[in-house]
Amino acid sequence: MIDSYRHQGLRRKLVQTIKSKGISDDRVLSAMEKIPRHYFMDSSFTEIAYQDKPFPIGLGQTISQPYTVAFQTELLKVEPGQKVLEIGTGSGYQACVLVEMGARVFSVERHRELHRKSKALLGQMGYHPKLFYGDGYEGLPAYAPFDKILVTAGASETPPALLQQLNIGGMLVIPLGKGSNQVMTRFTKISENDFEKEEFGHFRFVPLLGKKT
Ligand code: SAH
Repeated sequence: MIDSYRHQGLRRKLVQTIKSKGISDDRVLSAMEKIPRHYFMDSSFTEIAYQDKPFPIGLGQTISQPYTVAFQTELLKVEPGQKVLEIGTGSGYQACVLVEMGARVFSVERHRELHRKSKALLGQMGYHPKLFYGDGYEGLPAYAPFDKILVTAGASETPPALLQQLNIGGMLVIPLGKGSNQVMTRFTKISENDFEKEEFGHFRFVPLLGKKT
């Protein structure tokens, strides 16, 4: 794995692009400037890894568009030391962004092959979030509660387990909607049964699926 000056230069430009689209949290931007995004894609995509676009990672899944990663991460307001659960490890890129921001990261993936690949890659890169193979609909009860939960696939409804596994004051960021059109939604847990709900515009995600494969 080589992170050349050219890659680093392209990455700086990408971060500028994301910034110009409205992302202002410097901690998000500097995390993304550090992580070689081209490591997460097939070598045939290396040259275009730094465009602000989603890309295929196999098994019909995609690594999210960098702007979308930044947008979701900014909404999550991650502080160093917080326990963060991600649903949909995919390539593992988003998990690395959260680790770079100082979070204690747990991430669940329902595709065994993607789980295996991301675990190997992140280990090689020196990132060590806790990665699990399983159905994110159920959250991760054995490790709950979490300060923050981030869903990186489009859900037709909010999985109740995720709301339940939040700390009071905790937040769930989840793209909600059927098909390929979702509304970015943030729930803040006010008390055991009360949540504040905010909506932040439209995005396109691959679907959150219930069953393991
Ligand atoms: N966060 C990823 C992008 C994820 S794409 C990245 O940074 O690359 C969405 C991922 O969610 C896919 O890998 C898909 O397999 C996974 N997924 C879909 N339904 C799931 C579920 N119920 N539980 C866990 N993962 C799921």
